[in-house]
Amino acid sequence: MSGQIMDGKAIGAAIRAEVAEGAAALKAKGLRAPGLAAVLVGENPASKVYVSSKVKACAEAGLFSEKVELPATATTEEVLKVVRHLNERQDIDGILVQLPLPKQVDEGAVLRAIDPSKDVDGFHPVSVGNLVLDQGGFEPCTPAGIMELLKRCGVDLKGKRAVVVGRSHIVGKPMALMLLREHATVTICHSRTQDLPGVCREADVLVAAMGKPAFITHDFIKPGAVVVDVGINRVTDLAEAERFFGGDPERMKQVREKGSTLVGDVLPTAMWEKASLYTPVPGGVGPLTIAMLLSNTLKSAQLRMG
Ligand code: NDP
Repeated sequence: MSGQIMDGKAIGAAIRAEVAEGAAALKAKGLRAPGLAAVLVGENPASKVYVSSKVKACAEAGLFSEKVELPATATTEEVLKVVRHLNERQDIDGILVQLPLPKQVDEGAVLRAIDPSKDVDGFHPVSVGNLVLDQGGFEPCTPAGIMELLKRCGVDLKGKRAVVVGRSHIVGKPMALMLLREHATVTICHSRTQDLPGVCREADVLVAAMGKPAFITHDFIKPGAVVVDVGINRVTDLAEAERFFGGDPERMKQVREKGSTLVGDVLPTAMWEKASLYTPVPGGVGPLTIAMLLSNTLKSAQLRMG
């Protein structure tokens, strides 16, 4: 079997174009652009890249965005003060605090301080509660993006066996709740799960969100399963890249010339050979996360402006 790609890049672009239309429609009514504030604390290079790409994506879709930067030494109280000010601002519809925060900052206190009506990342306990109770509200962008991807690729979840590997608050747990809402029969796995390959082999839809490079191999995948690979891991070793990508010349070239390539939590050759549909890394789940953030910000603006 040779699996088909679920093209997150194309679907992410389509969602962003829909957001741009929504933002243009607000402007056409004489209303302001939806506004997103991104709070970045410290110098984490990955966080800086994520925030920059979110700000760029806002500009491309006609959304207003503002980056608020605080030093790595910022205290919880200083971050809370910024969040409280953003809560009050009329031109801001969405507030995202880029995680992880420096150790001295109380992450839970900061997330709880965000006005739930501006919680476009969906991490506030009120948003989590709304998700559990199916009461609407903002949902975490990565699993929400995966649901949109599955829907737009025509994957029917009703009555299917879904297995989610990973139970983080950001991906695994909300993913499982969303699959359940669409009537899948859901199993959540984690580092203490016994016979992980056996449990994964039961999945019609397998979602891997572990942060372990190419951990899910042929033995974990039921033939014809739909496989969603959330993991983003950097591979720098040529021999490892050779094994993961079956010697794919493009990937080998990337490692040789750029020093690295990206791999998910699923062994690419296993997805290619055993899945019916799968998300590539990169170009699968990643582009959907930002698209859903924009979509949540537009939704917030529409609600706030009536
Ligand atoms: P976390 O580290 O918070 O969670 C990882 C989960 O995987 C944990 O629940 C852990 O179990 C489980 N796990 C780890 N090792 C094993 C194992 N050997 N067997 C079974 N379960 C295991 O990660 P995140 O959820 O934040 O992210 C997961 C991956 O997704 C990362 O690679 C991250 O970079 C990527 N990511 C990608 C995004 C995108 O936009 N594409 C967005 C967010 C994340 P336990 O709870 O028992 O420790």
